[in-house]
Amino acid sequence: VMTPGLVDCHTHLVFGGARADEFEARLEGASYEEIARRGGGILSTVLATREASEQTLFNAALPRLKALVEEGVTTVEIKSGYGLDVANELKMLRVARRLGEELPVHVLTTLLGAHALPPEYENDSDGYIELVCNEMIPAAAAEGLADAVDVFCEKIAFSVAQCERVFKAAQAHGLPIKAHAEQLSNLGGAAMAARHCALSADHIEYLDDAGIAAMREAGSVAVILPGAFHTLRETQQPPIAGLREAGVPMAVATDANPGSSPIFMPTLMLNLACTLFRMTPQEALAGMTANGAAALGLKGQGQLHEGAVADLCVWDIETPAELAYAVQPGRLRQRVYQGELTHGR
Ligand SMILES: [Zn+2]
Repeated sequence: VMTPGLVDCHTHLVFGGARADEFEARLEGASYEEIARRGGGILSTVLATREASEQTLFNAALPRLKALVEEGVTTVEIKSGYGLDVANELKMLRVARRLGEELPVHVLTTLLGAHALPPEYENDSDGYIELVCNEMIPAAAAEGLADAVDVFCEKIAFSVAQCERVFKAAQAHGLPIKAHAEQLSNLGGAAMAARHCALSADHIEYLDDAGIAAMREAGSVAVILPGAFHTLRETQQPPIAGLREAGVPMAVATDANPGSSPIFMPTLMLNLACTLFRMTPQEALAGMTANGAAALGLKGQGQLHEGAVADLCVWDIETPAELAYAVQPGRLRQRVYQGELTHGR
């Protein structure tokens, strides 16, 4: 079976430190509070990322990206969001750009300064949003380091109004926008993002009908992230049937990150999208090809047709559905990136 090269449109695969000890501690009975007190959680990733040199971050991220590439990914999005100050956010984006130069894969970078509140801005989230809008976005734009700007719109992160300020700053610099929205509650972030013509709203477990309508109107892509749902043992399902009925394009991505989705296996996501969310294998595959491309502003890519970029995978399977059906690495026979054979013979 030949498919377009896979498009992983949502990852956080550049990060410092490790969180397996925290995973283990939690399973041994430690509470979230205890883990936070020991310096765990996203803050530990932020501190480790700040401490790490560009080379250290690059060396750590390379095998993660290789794992995606060796499973057929030809286009990947990589977000910043663990630096949370100007220098360290730019450092992350530079590492992401370098990864794309090292491996045969198209890397798109996304500035996610508004991911979490850094400790030095505790009790001043508006002050931090000002830093993102007035310094981080202009610096990333000036250096050509960001292809898009993302936010985390959630009670534990930033409000709809704060995210809207970030979007306006991004658009003033000509950068497209996307949002982590409606993951843990329904704040209306996806609808607000759609009003600003966002490329995508991602997670969206709590998206309501108004949000679906706004996304359809704007042509925003719904990015479905079953890895985080699985890892966090969530129970609120994204409204797949509603999105399907409205004709909102659905993408599927790994959300590869050290906290909520330490999963670097794209075809497993096809399986989880089907088993957890009842997407069809065809929808899941479109989600990691054409619709994944659309979520990155690459409309018309991630498809097999004349004029499209020749990013292709040949798989040792009999029908496309097998890719989502079996969790089985090693089925990629050939991979073609921009017309060149990079895997197989
Ligand atoms: Zn994410």
